[in-house]
Amino acid sequence: MRYSVLSLLLNGLTGQRGWRPAWREPNPKPAYDVIIVGGGGHGLATAYYLARQHGIRNVAVIEKGYIGSGNAGRNTTIIRSNYLLPGNEPFYEWSMKLWEGLEQELNYNAMVSQRGVLNLYHSDAQRDAYARRGNAMRLHGVDSELLDAEGVRAMYPFLDFANARFPIRGGLLQRRGGTARHDAVVWGYARAADALGVDILQNCEVTGFLSEGDAITGVETTRGPVRAKKVGLAVAGSTSRVAGKAGLRLPIESHVLQAFVSEGLKPLIDGVVTFGAGHFYISQSDKGGLVFGGDIDGYNSYAQRGNLPVIEDVCEGGMALMPRLGRVRLLRHWGGIMDMSMDGSPIIDRTPRPGLYLNAGWCYGGFKATPASGWCFAHLLARDEAHETARAMRLDRFRTGHLIDEKGVGAQPNLH
Ligand SMILES: Cc1cc2nc3c(=O)[nH]c(=O)nc-3n(C[C@H](O)[C@H](O)[C@H](O)COP(=O)(O)OP(=O)(O)OC[C@H]3O[C@@H](n4cnc5c(N)ncnc54)[C@H](O)[C@@H]3O)c2cc1C
Repeated sequence: MRYSVLSLLLNGLTGQRGWRPAWREPNPKPAYDVIIVGGGGHGLATAYYLARQHGIRNVAVIEKGYIGSGNAGRNTTIIRSNYLLPGNEPFYEWSMKLWEGLEQELNYNAMVSQRGVLNLYHSDAQRDAYARRGNAMRLHGVDSELLDAEGVRAMYPFLDFANARFPIRGGLLQRRGGTARHDAVVWGYARAADALGVDILQNCEVTGFLSEGDAITGVETTRGPVRAKKVGLAVAGSTSRVAGKAGLRLPIESHVLQAFVSEGLKPLIDGVVTFGAGHFYISQSDKGGLVFGGDIDGYNSYAQRGNLPVIEDVCEGGMALMPRLGRVRLLRHWGGIMDMSMDGSPIIDRTPRPGLYLNAGWCYGGFKATPASGWCFAHLLARDEAHETARAMRLDRFRTGHLIDEKGVGAQPNLH
């Protein structure tokens, strides 16, 4: 069923009885062409593009809980393509282009809002680094603007420009960046994939793999074995655990990242602002809550909740940037499990096990990548070759030394 103004009106006049469930609840078939493990944004987008772009519809997405119960439903919803390195920038810009047409493509309101992402700088050296990044973006045909302090003041006059330790000197602005409603992205892809014949199997955990020799030929699940010609992993924070069941040890650590939402306020911040002297970023949801976050908790964990020291650290960052935040009450906070790769960039590649494919290493930044990640992973699964924008995202780069280290900090997940 297509959503439209007419269908809204008709259902409004007939007691809302005409709506159908947005996706089916099928039982697992004995075998599929492709199984995607993980019903987050990436897994569902992959299934959708497999069906839509490559005509491969005999596909199952297997999710241990309910779809969107992982990081897809826990993130702070920021989308942007303001990267420096050639291994990243074309990929994230491709994602941004897909975001720009996503709602029409899926016939679903994902609340994509290009309200601008502003990265603040606080020193001359940081300004130079941002100028370099802005120029790299422009060389890739991506919009970027370097603002001075007055340019920032015109947008956000209430920031603490004269802070004694971290004065605001300006910012790098990507106007096409912004936010999208994370749950709606999951639901939109699920509904569109289901309509093309993809089976979405919820409450079905993958507990192991079926194999013949080295080759992976399916999965063991809590609802029985399911065979497949190809199996793709898109389990984000659970990557090490699930890949471990196939005997793989990956250059990925799992860490907790927390997010915070304040009580609802009148409109205050109409874009996304990030602090450059610490790790803090903030935007305002359409319901009025300030949505913000900061660093990972800094220890390996599979718990979807964080600890108090990082809450203190995030609040200190917020206060240094925006002192009026001290009057706001925190409404809720939660954690998600991040798949931190050793260079801060993702992996979309085959694995050493024939038939097993990997989509992982998204660190803090995988929500914005959802459309391109699905597109490129589907391309790899369908054609057995990397999509042109994801060629650098190889698994063997950690062995060959072709890292995509945006921040140049090496194998330290807490610094990416
Ligand atoms: C607090 C927080 C803030 C963030 N903010 C941003 C942001 O502002 N912008 C941005 O770009 N990114 C952000 N991210 C990162 C982003 O959310 C993730 O990188 C991205 O969602 C990961 O891809 P996914 O959506 O497919 O993962 P997930 O939604 O985590 O999907 C993986 C799924 O796999 C399932 N699974 C795991 N093990 C199994 C198994 N054995 N069998 C079956 N299913 C299994 C899980 O239940 C889960 O649903 C943030 C993350 C967090 C936690």
